Amino acid sequence: LLGYIGIDTIIEQMRKKTMKTGFDFNIMVVGPSGLGKSTLVNTLFKSQVSRKSAGWARDEKIPKTVEIKSVSHVIEEGGVKMKLTIVDTPGFGDQINNDNCWEPISKYINEQFEKFLKEEVNITRKKRIPDTRVHCCLYFIPPTGHCLRQLDVEFMRRLSHSVNIIPVIAKSDTMTIEERQEFKQRVRKELENNGIEFYPQKEFDDDMEDKSDNDKIRETMPFAVVGSDKEHQVNGKRVLGRKTAWGIIEVENPNHCEFAQLRDFLIRSHLQDLKEVTHNIHYETYRAKRLNDNGG
Ligand code: GDP
Ligand code: MG
Repeated sequence: LLGYIGIDTIIEQMRKKTMKTGFDFNIMVVGPSGLGKSTLVNTLFKSQVSRKSAGWARDEKIPKTVEIKSVSHVIEEGGVKMKLTIVDTPGFGDQINNDNCWEPISKYINEQFEKFLKEEVNITRKKRIPDTRVHCCLYFIPPTGHCLRQLDVEFMRRLSHSVNIIPVIAKSDTMTIEERQEFKQRVRKELENNGIEFYPQKEFDDDMEDKSDNDKIRETMPFAVVGSDKEHQVNGKRVLGRKTAWGIIEVENPNHCEFAQLRDFLIRSHLQDLKEVTHNIHYETYRAKRLNDNGG
């Protein structure tokens, strides 16, 4: 091919590299207790992992989460390995005095930045630094139908500067379809009025195409999710769902809730971007501040 340079082979080269090394992706779940955070962690893993690997049929009751705890699984598809880690956190805001209740979470996020920084400034740097930085934080909003609580607003406001916040409406099966739509709209409005930038942040849209894609997503957020780690038989197929007196709520059925949308958004469309924003914006902010504090 005359004049062909081969720049386009970079895609293939990147693919090969990623196949060899794999990559880390870390999600954190945060919010008041009892909203289904631990259940959603299991739902995410089950919907991703169990279809491929057997031996995930544990049916234990989920214990109350009392400390920050992470669970990892390596998921492989088409020769690409992703180490998916989900960081589960205890419910916060359960105390009588909730001053500074975001601190343990903020501390955890910064500790991961610090770990990465230490590796980066090492004289003998690892070829690939293990990445435990939190790439996104799912914030669980109680399905009250009322306004956001001061606690939720305060948390998201503080943390939005160090992590990609993705608000979700928890246990959305407890709301009717109209209530859901209305509540989603109200939450968006309140986030805007309080100046909270959730992910995907408008200021980081790269171009018009990005903006129009992300605008569509922002208009459907926060995703109204339902979680379950129990399987049920529906039309001869095993599905993850919640059995109620009037039928089964299928968590991966887009007509029932927005869990599948959330999962596709996290993994299929925005994974790389979540990692980039974490590295280029949140980590960079931390790094600059740290090096400044030290050098100044
Ligand atoms: P966490 O404290 O936020 O980790 O909440 P858990 O995952 O421990 O769940 C608390 C309770 O809510 C359990 O009884 C779950 O079965 C139930 N639950 C979890 N997700 C949902 C949901 O999407 N809808 C409903 N209705 N209940 C849920
Ligand atoms: Mg829990």
